[in-house]
Amino acid sequence: MQTCAQKHCRSRTIKARGLCNTCYAYALKHDQLDEYERKQWDRSELVAAYRQLRSEGKTPVAAAMTLGVDVRAVYSAVGRQRRFERQGFTKYVAPTIDDDEA
Ligand SMILES: [Zn+2]
Repeated sequence: MQTCAQKHCRSRTIKARGLCNTCYAYALKHDQLDEYERKQWDRSELVAAYRQLRSEGKTPVAAAMTLGVDVRAVYSAVGRQRRFERQGFTKYVAPTIDDDEA
């Protein structure tokens, strides 16, 4: 079973880039995500990163800019991700913050 890419962390709840929620949030905040290989910029990861930035107080536009994507693309991804999660197909533990309405 895959564990977190951080050597000191043995968490098995992988969020993205081989990192668990905690280590992913830390790497994102400290601009270290580039150190961990991204398999694919998929919807789940985009939305997870967006939700993390929003939970840290960034505006939707600022969060989208940080991620390098258009805010409308993020809104679309959030909407698709929400429908995906509603079906019970969650791949990771999603942050419990309010999403922006698309
Ligand atoms: Zn970890």
